[in-house]
Parts: sequence; C-alpha cells; structure tokens
Amino acid sequence: MNRKQFDPLKIIRTFTALKILKTIAALQKYLQQQNKKTIGLVPTMGALHQGHLSLIALAKAQTAIVVCSIFVNPTQFTNALDLEKYPRPIETDIIKLEQAECDVLFMPETTEMYPQKEHWHLDIGEVEHRLEGKFRPGHYQGVMQIVYKLFVAVKPDLAFFGQKDFQQFRVIEKMAELKKLPVKLVMCPIIREADGLAMSSRNIHLTAEERQHALVLSRALNHLKNVPVKEASAQIILKEAVEMIKAEPGVELEYLEIVNADDLSEDLSHPEKGTIALVAAKVGQTRLIDNMILG
Ligand code: AMP
Repeated sequence: MNRKQFDPLKIIRTFTALKILKTIAALQKYLQQQNKKTIGLVPTMGALHQGHLSLIALAKAQTAIVVCSIFVNPTQFTNALDLEKYPRPIETDIIKLEQAECDVLFMPETTEMYPQKEHWHLDIGEVEHRLEGKFRPGHYQGVMQIVYKLFVAVKPDLAFFGQKDFQQFRVIEKMAELKKLPVKLVMCPIIREADGLAMSSRNIHLTAEERQHALVLSRALNHLKNVPVKEASAQIILKEAVEMIKAEPGVELEYLEIVNADDLSEDLSHPEKGTIALVAAKVGQTRLIDNMILG
C-alpha cells in the first residue's frame, strides 16, 4: 500500500459511529429518522479541547443523541484578523469527537448558514452591551444570529454551553426566551489547565512566556473568590485584583468587574441572584476571557 492510499483517519471513520453532516437538510433528515429521541446540541467553533469535550460528556449523560456543531461564525467576529487566524484543525477535531462518542458532527460551510445577505437584530436590552458588548460591539448579535439558526435547524431538547462564556449564556437565554424556542439551556463548568488557565481555543496563540503571564487572570479571580460582596472592603479587594493584572507584563486589562449574575448589572443588592467576577484582557495579541462565580 503506498502512503497516499493509507489514510488512518479514513480507517477510524469507517469503524466509529460519528455521523458527519454538512447541510441542514441532511442533518434534519438524519434527526427525523431517530424516532423522537432527545437531542442535545453542543455548538462550537472547533479547535476542540477538554472544555468542549466536557460539554459533550454532559450532553451524552442527559440526551440520547448528541449533535456537536463546528462553525467559525463570521458574523460574530468584530476583527477580520481574529476571524482569519482562528484555528481550524478539523481532522484532529473529528478524532476527538469520535473518541468522545459524539453522535453527529454538523460542520456546514458559510454559504450553508448564510446563503444570502441577511439582516439580523434582536433587542435583548442592556445585557448585550455590558462587559464584552462594550469591547466587541455587535458580537452578541452575531452569536444570537448563528445560535438561533442552529436551534431552528437542530431543534434540540437541551443545548449545552460553557460558563466560560457566561455573558454569552445570558444573551442566548434571552434570545431563546424572546423567540419562544422550546430548548432548555444547560450551563457547564469552566475546565481549566492544571495551573488554572481557563481552556480556550485561542490559548494556542500564546507563546510560552505569554502563557505564564496569562495565569494572572485566574489568580486575580481567585483573589476575589471569597470577597464579601456587599461590604465596602469588596471594592478594595477588587482594586487589588485590578492592580495585580495591570502589573503583569504583556497583559492589557480590558475589564475586571463584579456584577449581578442574573442580569450582569452593577446592582449587587440581591446577592440571592448570585454574583460573578468577569475579566477580559489581551495577552500579547491574544484576547482572553475568564470568570468566577463568587460566594
Ligand atoms: P467556542 O468554540 O469557543 O465557541 O466554545 C464552544 C462552547 O464551549 C461554548 O459554550 C463555550 O463556553 C464552551 N467552552 C469554551 N471553553 C470552555 C472551558 N474552558 N470550559 C468549559 N466550556 C468551555
């Protein structure tokens, strides 16, 4: 057998059950044949890591058929270079999904999701414009646009998202409510590297040195972990955490805030709704986000 004919990926694919579908029509046909089994959806942009795979594992535990989508959605990128350099290691992603025993990979082309130019806008109020929204205006409109399309195409019973993108979860929740979509959203815990760095597809852009500096984000969040939110000392501790990040070489802080976990407002007078610290910073050229639920 010459080397060209020997394709280990092809062999793995023949023996595993992962169904790879590229069109909405094929996806819907397949799902209809599954006899009303419960469907779990895990939307991703690929470059899969343990964080994504933990969502698949949780989806497998709660639903009969797990659909993972991989689609680098252009409408949610606010920076053309970020979109261009977004990692797309599709062959290794497929192997990971096969090992995770995911049932379906939906990986459409851009033209499948956006066959023509379209206008999307959904007013979800302030939650869109705070924090990430301030630094990436329009980002969440793009996120809602693609997740809406995926929800309509897949009609999942449950959809799994990471706490890593906490604000995104709140945005999607609002979109699903306003669009009256009968899907239950499940928030899954943040998976971290052993040293505390939150896993992210963007981490591969970090140099070894930048990766060390990036640890300041989880360190700063840990500093806030037991902060007595309603007391004046909270502001002092928050300031200390901000200073910690600002002092780190190569790290440019965008925001570090403690907000109400319900609507992400600064109103902390209802601690029963939960409180969360969220951070975003650029480490070299790479933008990272992280968060921690407090108390
Ligand atoms: P992405 O591919 O970055 O769009 O992420 C796809 C899904 O994986 C989103 O729901 C993310 O919140 C989730 N996710 C990303 N990183 C992590 C992580 N470190 N732990 C848990 N979930 C994550």
